[in-house]
Amino acid sequence: MLISKEGLKKLAEKLLGEGVQVAAPTERANQPVYAALRSADELALEHQIPRNSFKEFLFPQTEVVARFTISKGSVNLASAGAEFPETVVLGARPCDAASVASLRSVFTWKGEDDRFFTGREDKAAVVTIACTKGDGACFCTSVGLAPDSPQGSDILLRPTVSGGFRAEALTERGKALVAGADGIFTEGDEELAPVAPPPAVESADVEKILGWLSDTENYKDALWAAHAGKCVGCGACTYVCPTCHCFDIVDEGRAFEGERRKNWDACQFDHFTAHAGGHNPREKQSQRWRNRFMCKFHYYPTKFDSRGCVGCGRCIRVCYVGLDITEMMQKVTAKSVGS
Ligand code: SF4
Ligand code: SF4
Repeated sequence: MLISKEGLKKLAEKLLGEGVQVAAPTERANQPVYAALRSADELALEHQIPRNSFKEFLFPQTEVVARFTISKGSVNLASAGAEFPETVVLGARPCDAASVASLRSVFTWKGEDDRFFTGREDKAAVVTIACTKGDGACFCTSVGLAPDSPQGSDILLRPTVSGGFRAEALTERGKALVAGADGIFTEGDEELAPVAPPPAVESADVEKILGWLSDTENYKDALWAAHAGKCVGCGACTYVCPTCHCFDIVDEGRAFEGERRKNWDACQFDHFTAHAGGHNPREKQSQRWRNRFMCKFHYYPTKFDSRGCVGCGRCIRVCYVGLDITEMMQKVTAKSVGS
């Protein structure tokens, strides 16, 4: 099947007309971002990768999960409705599509089912565009992915030399989207434009990293402070990361009524692990940074069969003190070889 750029716009128009939420690359405040399109004209596919990930459409930055009232002798807690919009992510990058499985692993861990995530994801389809260019921060090939990885995509679009896309519906959701698209997808074939695999991070090996991180003695290694001492704990890396998923539950409102909210949190914040009594088991910023690295390259691979890091490079682009996760991947690999 084929679809042109104009066809993608028509698809966005059709979906918006049907009341479907279309999350797609566009521009806001002169930045390329995934956002809910207000019109099909906002679709902007010329940028390599949006500044944010699209996780906020499956796991919003803040949301009400329950409402409460307190009256004499009783507390009434009612779950917020779990009705979610039908959503199509149109023009996702393959690294971002792959991250959906990472989020699902957490929100369904040990048989749990966080309906505030799964309810959204069950109603979402992901249409991905393979990458024909990358930038210096992309490193999907070092974490087992590629610029045309199909993981997490319902439809994978591969750019063709003529400027359109070859479309492959990979799931029932994807097939239903093609079938309902009123001829916007057409039969045919065209020569593919070459994809652009980013060079592998030199001398970095995720298996060796996992092995070194598995030795708890290495938690105390001087490497952490030496590399991550300059982190200021702003949390930007976690907010843009498609796989970071930490959240906090807080009650907001007045004395006798209010709402319970699920808000994004970040392991880089100094109060993230602070105990009520004042003790903080990760009191130094380098320990907090170590935790994030451990989450990506130890906790995920030992707990789940999905990736903690999809190599999107956002944490590198956004960090204004220049902390680069791939440098730590190299340093830890070198340590593992030397140990
Ligand atoms: S690594 Fe960089 S982006 Fe992340 S919390 Fe530290 S200073 Fe902020
Ligand atoms: S850790 Fe960095 S490179 Fe890896 S998925 Fe998160 S933002 Fe992307």
